[in-house]
Amino acid sequence: MSEVCVRVAVRIRPLLRRELLHHHKVCVRVVPPSSAQVMLGSDRLFSFDHAFGPTASQDEVYESCVQPLVESLLDGYNATVFSYGQTGSGKTYTLGGGSQDEGGIIERVAQHVFLLLATQKNNESVEAMVRVSYMELYREELRDLLDMNTNYKELHIRDDEKGNTVVVGAREMVVTSAEELLSVVEMGNALRHTGATGMNEHSSRSHVILSLQVNICSQSINNPSLKSVRSSKLCLVDLAGSERAGKTENTGAQFKESALINTGLLALGNVIRALSDRRRCRRGNSCSGAHVPYRDAKITRLLRDSLGGNAHTVMVACVSPSHHFVAETLNVLQFASKAR
Ligand code: ADP
Ligand code: MG
Repeated sequence: MSEVCVRVAVRIRPLLRRELLHHHKVCVRVVPPSSAQVMLGSDRLFSFDHAFGPTASQDEVYESCVQPLVESLLDGYNATVFSYGQTGSGKTYTLGGGSQDEGGIIERVAQHVFLLLATQKNNESVEAMVRVSYMELYREELRDLLDMNTNYKELHIRDDEKGNTVVVGAREMVVTSAEELLSVVEMGNALRHTGATGMNEHSSRSHVILSLQVNICSQSINNPSLKSVRSSKLCLVDLAGSERAGKTENTGAQFKESALINTGLLALGNVIRALSDRRRCRRGNSCSGAHVPYRDAKITRLLRDSLGGNAHTVMVACVSPSHHFVAETLNVLQFASKAR
């Protein structure tokens, strides 16, 4: 993997059936086709590390954005994948799949991780353990999606002496296959649905974080006293709808909620930007050690050890092609291009 630690991809979903029925027009495209640039309207051009149009498959997105991260995960690097965008833009489709036919990033990660572990085992004497945790961050409160009994309780975030982020009391489940991992995710999703009034309303307001902790202990076959232990973490994050950021016309409780979501997404943008700045100035050899404001929100505190440092990060910014959402699409493209 190159030294680049934050990569940004944009994915434009197809027009949905009901949008076609209502004659929505396409206002954003990849130009020229199969480049990494996106044109909004006829004159606003944005550049990214990757750009996917409406016909891009889940496989393409996985292979170019996520596969390298999974490979470096097994070499001991932490990694994070975010999906960012307005509600209805394809964040959950991209990350969680949700459809039977075309699994998303989570499904592909599950398969790839266990495939790579199996191949490693053929080469040396390897013991591997994969632990999963699954949490939801709603109104700056972190809750466990794997524990029905404590789901109503708020979890607390601490940094341990090695600089790892630890969520005190979060349930971790050991999984030994892709199927097991996916059934744990399904269990968490089920718990998430039960508390919610309207699923879409709820999911637009919360961040969902799936973490895989991978520990690999390998021993040389020729010299058993040569032992190495690697440990790394991959976080897959489905962020709250970006339209919640910057909304100020809401009042009362709704205002507070929007403000909290706003804080989280803004903090995330600031952290990613600070990391990119740091990288740029390191290249220019004049780095003054730009401050990375992790502590500004729970989402950035939680992901501290998986963003920056030795971690690789990919943000997939999802947008709708419909002209109805042109204003929000512009916001998302601006946010995403600033993150690079
Ligand atoms: P979000 O999680 O951002 O709110 P969803 O992932 O739920 O959005 O997507 C909204 C709708 O668009 C869903 O019906 C989903 O199946 C569909 N969709 C999103 N992205 C794609 C895509 N790339 N190809 C086909 N359908 C998509
Ligand atoms: Mg969603």
